[in-house]
Amino acid sequence: MIRQKIVAGNWKMNGSKESIVSLINGLLKMERSNSEVVISPSFPYLSQVSDLIDGTGLVLAAQNVSQQVKGAYTGEVSASMLGDFGVKYVLLGHSERRSLYGETDQLVADKVKAILDFGLFPMLCIGETLTERESGKTLEVCQRQLQVVVDAVGIDAFEKIVIAYEPVWAIGTGLSASAEQAQDVHQSIRAFLAKASGSVSQKVQILYGGSVKASTSSALFEMADVDGALVGGASLDAEEFIAIVKAA
Ligand code: PGA
Repeated sequence: MIRQKIVAGNWKMNGSKESIVSLINGLLKMERSNSEVVISPSFPYLSQVSDLIDGTGLVLAAQNVSQQVKGAYTGEVSASMLGDFGVKYVLLGHSERRSLYGETDQLVADKVKAILDFGLFPMLCIGETLTERESGKTLEVCQRQLQVVVDAVGIDAFEKIVIAYEPVWAIGTGLSASAEQAQDVHQSIRAFLAKASGSVSQKVQILYGGSVKASTSSALFEMADVDGALVGGASLDAEEFIAIVKAA
C-alpha cells in the first residue's frame, strides 16, 4: 500500500509577525514535493500564515483546539474557528499538552471527536516516556492512548486521523529514536489497529516525531511503516526543514 508521506512542522510557541514572514519566504524556495508539507503556527498567526501560504501547496495545522463547540469557554478556540482560517490538521495529544497541561487520554479523545465532527483532520500524538520504555511498556502505553480514541470515534474514523508516534524522551532532547526503533513501534501500532480493521490499518499514516533532523530523516523515511515526520525544533529553520522534506 502506498501512503503519501507527510512532513509537518510543529512551531510550538515560537515566532513573531516578522520572523514568520522570513520563515515562510524561506520555505517557499522549496521545490514541489510529492509529500504533503504542513506547518503549524501558534493561534494568533494562523490568519497571517493562511494568507502567506495561499496557493502555495503548503498546508496549515493548528496546535490545539477546544473539545467544545462554542459558548462560554473563555480562552478557548473551536474547530469551526480553525476551519475559518483554512486549517486542515490539528495536533492533539502532544506530550507537552499531556504533561504540562494535564490533558488526559479522554480529553484528547474528546478533542479528536470535535475535530472530526467539524470535518478537520486530527494529528494524534502518542508515545512513551523514558521510564515507560525502560520498563518495557512502550506498546502498552501507545495502545492505551489509541484505544481511548478508538472507543470514542470508532476504528473507521482512523481513515481521517494521522498518528504521530513521538517518544517523549526524544522530543526536544536531540536524542532521536533510531530508524529501527521507530519502525518497530510503527509496525506494532499498525498491527494493533489491524485487529480492528485491516484496511484502515493499511491506510493510516504514521509519522515519527522526536528530534528529527535532516541528517537522520532519510534513514527514518526508508522504513516501511514510517509515513513521514512531525518536526519541532528543526522546522524553525527553513533550510533544515526543506532538507527533511526532500528526504521524504
Ligand atoms: P522536536 O519536537 O523535533 O523538537 O523534538 C517534536 C515535537 O514535539 O513534535
